[in-house]
Amino acid sequence: EIKSKIGGGEQNLTVVLRIRPMNEDEVLLRATQISHKVGENMVVLMDPLEDPDDILRANRSREKTFVFDQTFDGNATQEKVYDATTKFLIENVVTGYNATVFAYGATGAGKTYTMLGTDNEPGIMARALNDLFLQMEKSDDMAYKVTMSYLEIYNEMIRDLLNPGSGILDLREDSKGGVQVAGLVELKARSTEEVMRLLMQGNKERTQEPTAANKTSSRSHAVLQVIVRQQNKARNIMQEVRTGKLFLVDLAGSERAANTHNRGKRMVEGAHINRSLLALGNCINALTDKNGKGYVNYRDSKLTRLLKDALGGNCKTVMIAHISPASIHFEESRNTLIYADRAK
Ligand code: ADP
Ligand code: MG
Repeated sequence: EIKSKIGGGEQNLTVVLRIRPMNEDEVLLRATQISHKVGENMVVLMDPLEDPDDILRANRSREKTFVFDQTFDGNATQEKVYDATTKFLIENVVTGYNATVFAYGATGAGKTYTMLGTDNEPGIMARALNDLFLQMEKSDDMAYKVTMSYLEIYNEMIRDLLNPGSGILDLREDSKGGVQVAGLVELKARSTEEVMRLLMQGNKERTQEPTAANKTSSRSHAVLQVIVRQQNKARNIMQEVRTGKLFLVDLAGSERAANTHNRGKRMVEGAHINRSLLALGNCINALTDKNGKGYVNYRDSKLTRLLKDALGGNCKTVMIAHISPASIHFEESRNTLIYADRAK
């Protein structure tokens, strides 16, 4: 089954898969690669078996095929992923619509690489802001104001990553149903370099702890909120005409608390992460449920409350699911594929 091509942004929910390249450890462990087709919109997951002869003899019925709007393998560039997932949203945001892009996946699967990237290989966040700056320069009759805020949600608490001294911030809803984080710093940035510097600095403030698996695991959701306020330059009418919001979200690692042998503090974090990822999945599900009752419960987590006016309605939502290509991460990858598949 071939689903509609993305890029035009016709559909409200787009789900893509990115499979990162094998890393050194995985190559050293001589991990086998999870079978995936390149350049198409599907991935085939096979049970990893130690003995290659067993693979040949393996029961083909244990294979499972997942279909996405698009899949990217280890050769896909940052630009290619940006173009297919986010570029087409810029126009929407400039014209006053809201949009959200999520990076979903287990720790180490490549979420931060996709969203933040590196100085040499900037990710979606810097590229989106760069395109917004370009868009603003092109416009003659409209004045745009673009601001960025960067926050984390850790154990259901919101902290400003660009102003870490400000403590725990409150979510407020106004009478029109708009959602705001009280006291959150909104910065104007002028260049991609400046955006990258702010984001890198903010990322250092994220709550990260080593898990039992001895990897650095992000235990928080990092949310870049970009607000585009449009004003009419003509006749000095400077009141706001339209406001568009773009949320770019680097979600907490999706591996289950139960899998990492965590106790105490780690277990509480795991429960919060599971709960918010479940709430997010449920909201996305309800939005795409063709014969649904139309009721979406945003109240279940801080994350879904924050994104309330950017999910559903005329908003566009993009999920980028991330997996490792190595068979040693088979279970994590399967869980991620099931979550992403369920969203569709
Ligand atoms: P996560 O945020 O999901 O925990 P990271 O983005 O930190 O994972 O990725 C883990 C490691 O793999 C990092 O060192 C990162 O630079 C590298 N990596 C991830 N995706 C890619 C990719 N597509 N190309 C090259 N390196 C990648
Ligand atoms: Mg990360």
